[in-house]
Amino acid sequence: MAGPLKTIALLGATGSIGGSTLDVVARHPDRFRIGALSAHGRVDELLALCERFHPDAAVLADPAGHAALRDGLEARGLRTRALSGPAALDEIAADPANDTVVAAIVGAAGVASTLAAARAGKRLLLANKESVVVAGQLLMQAVREGGATVLPVDSEHNAIYQCLPADGGRRGVRRLLLTASGGPFRGRRREDLAGITPDQACAHPNWVMGRKISVDSATLMNKGLEVIEACHLFGLPAERIEVVVHPQSVVHSLVDYVDGSVLAQLGNPDMRTALAYGLAWPERIDSGVPPLDLAALARFDFERPDLETFPCLALAYRALAAGGGAPAVLNAANEVAVSAFLQGELGFLGIPDLIQACLDALPGGPADSLEQLMDTDAAARRMAHTLVPRMRRR
Ligand code: NAD
Ligand code: MG
Repeated sequence: MAGPLKTIALLGATGSIGGSTLDVVARHPDRFRIGALSAHGRVDELLALCERFHPDAAVLADPAGHAALRDGLEARGLRTRALSGPAALDEIAADPANDTVVAAIVGAAGVASTLAAARAGKRLLLANKESVVVAGQLLMQAVREGGATVLPVDSEHNAIYQCLPADGGRRGVRRLLLTASGGPFRGRRREDLAGITPDQACAHPNWVMGRKISVDSATLMNKGLEVIEACHLFGLPAERIEVVVHPQSVVHSLVDYVDGSVLAQLGNPDMRTALAYGLAWPERIDSGVPPLDLAALARFDFERPDLETFPCLALAYRALAAGGGAPAVLNAANEVAVSAFLQGELGFLGIPDLIQACLDALPGGPADSLEQLMDTDAAARRMAHTLVPRMRRR
């Protein structure tokens, strides 16, 4: 027996994680129903999802599409409420009608709704790593005060969650080992990376993901963001979190214990495993992911990350050590840099240069409230935008 139906608010429904979530949900109509869906601006895609999942509410973050959403729902004869604007994201994240929130918006645009879900004590499936990077301390405080249950969905953090002691303690844990695929440019030297195009950077060898995280994987910033994410989620200092490159992306991460035991979680590289885990926890359900064929894989490789070719990982450790608002500066500068790179305004090697320049210029300041962090985020974005034209274009 599956127990009572869980009602899910899916923030970022039209994205890669959103699609994987809906795939798992659709396999288990006896367990899950969709209470709310959100998208940024793609009204047609959101309407198509509403037709399929009949949510109580649909949110378009960009208010410009409100009339199109409202009229589209009406034309389809749906009773879904049309909401729009960023505040409506916080509203559905905290709505008592939804017990589970999947935070799958990309970037700092997801911070406020992730915090709202934490404060409201939800089961919080956390994919939006940028919200942990920007507001880690506030978020963990909101989780404690709100009584939320965080289930990490980022595959590495999901793996670590599964390998940590079941009582939630850290007894006997020596280190966390975060695996990194190394991205599409593993093994290259820095000088080989001039002239890389957005399509080359987004062609990840193992995972199909949104374009922002794909570029982050190619620069290794994704792993940097994940180190910061792990510190907050698991309450361990940076010195106890190590990155190891594992090009097959089958060992999703590991926990090293003081007695020499190392526990790992393995699986095919498919986000539906982590999402099914978070949706059903503490139970296990079918995710649609095929069983792992170890003999067909034949071998696993591990190597150390190359920080000279991929300076973004070192920049993330630097921002983490600086603390306060520095990770928010790192994140905002990275978001601007990646977007400029995807639009052909900044070269691949300009991404770390731009982030470093922002970290050098902006100390970050305190991180005691969401308002402070959003001010820091805005200041870092302004600085990054002014620097883009001065950085390398190739
Ligand atoms: P995506 O680009 O495919 O989807 C992003 C979603 O966010 C879309 O639904 C989009 O409409 C919405 N969105 C974008 N900008 C918005 C804004 N300003 N306001 C409100 N909504 C907005 O991204 P994705 O690959 O699904 O990644 C989502 C998050 O999950 C990211 O934080 C990413 O780092 C994390 N993540 C993704 C994967 C993966 O396999 N794709 C793995 C681990 C973690
Ligand atoms: Mg990850």
